[in-house]
Amino acid sequence: MAKNHERIHHDEKNLCNLCVTELEGIYEELELTDAELDILSVPRRVFTVHFPVTLTNGTTRMFIGHRVQFNDSRGPSKGGIRFHPELKLDHVSDLAFLMALKCAVVNIPFGGAKGGVVVNPKELTRDELELVTRAYIRAIADFIGPFKDIPAPDVYTDEKVMVWILDEYEHLKREHAPAMVTGKPVELGGIKARQYSTSLGGIYVLEEAVKEKNIDKSHVRVAIQGFGNVGENAARILYERGYIVVAVSDSKGGVINQEGLDIREVIVHKRKEGTLQGFMGGQSISNKDLLTCDCDVLIPAALSDQIDRNNAKLIKAKIVLELANAPTTSEANILLFERSIMLIPDVLANAGGVVGSYFEWIQSLSNDYWDEEQVLVRLKKVMIDAFNDIYTVCREESCTMKKAAYKIAIKRILTAEKLRGNL
Ligand code: GLU
Repeated sequence: MAKNHERIHHDEKNLCNLCVTELEGIYEELELTDAELDILSVPRRVFTVHFPVTLTNGTTRMFIGHRVQFNDSRGPSKGGIRFHPELKLDHVSDLAFLMALKCAVVNIPFGGAKGGVVVNPKELTRDELELVTRAYIRAIADFIGPFKDIPAPDVYTDEKVMVWILDEYEHLKREHAPAMVTGKPVELGGIKARQYSTSLGGIYVLEEAVKEKNIDKSHVRVAIQGFGNVGENAARILYERGYIVVAVSDSKGGVINQEGLDIREVIVHKRKEGTLQGFMGGQSISNKDLLTCDCDVLIPAALSDQIDRNNAKLIKAKIVLELANAPTTSEANILLFERSIMLIPDVLANAGGVVGSYFEWIQSLSNDYWDEEQVLVRLKKVMIDAFNDIYTVCREESCTMKKAAYKIAIKRILTAEKLRGNL
């Protein structure tokens, strides 16, 4: 039997760097066999498509799209579609692996997937973006569907993009298929709470963590990196619940005010100016400095790899809530644990998004209507149950929450594989 990470390395087959770094610390404790390790660290299906789109100026450009279905032993693959100029297949694969773990952590019957198009949506017109989305869906239509693989919003994609996905797919299949995508507008079978379910799900978990850490709720000071859908909704909900939001930022930079920012005004400013810069109710702060500012709770809600071995030593927060996917490197996760900083890992912290998607999928499959209250009650229960499952393992084994979450998820995935006769 090969040693350590060699056991997880599959040469050209290996598309998942996260599997190597994350599974390494776990497989010995779980006594995984080589076959189990193989099943967990190789994506089941990987698609790369190239498609031409004629832009408004008459030129035709080839675009690249990816979709990775990492594991579907527990149910249809599920995961977002992102538009990003730097999108790389191996990163998509890492994120698909995280989705498989995430769905298992919150115990919903989905596997994990992720996809996207290499494109900067800010450089295209709305019409061009629609053409790109539709062409991408035509290219992968045979591999997705309500019982195969269900896309959702992710970085730089939204409701509008989900409608183009749905409409193109339904044209191709010549029938309605509302359960083939989630994150739809309410008028087309979406659920209202899906827009903010990632943020609210994270806040339900955060409130449990605040209790565990014995922090006085009325004095919790929060800093949030990222002001897209997830970061903005987190800021709004926390502000409405009486938390003191001291700092927020978007890709261009942020604002800080230790007395607390008026988030309603920040949102108005961002809508009007398209940026947080120039907001008068605080001083400006860079994205980098926000991470190490004086606060009790730090919420990275932007992109990956923001907290690393260099700045982990400087973090002042007592709790880090990972609303982004993979914002903390593995090394930094350990450094924070050694400093008794509680890191609530992405696979739990931002799972409210896919849980909201799950409710939407059920609603679309059954042509039913769930009211907002029903969604929120169920979301809260799923998130708090998952927090308790993980926290119990953490206490028993004095390990990081990330390790506990991974262990729970891996056991659930492997049980499904065994029941199917794959192991
Ligand atoms: N893109 C979100 C995530 O990373 C949501 C995925 C989904 O709802 O399928 O969790």
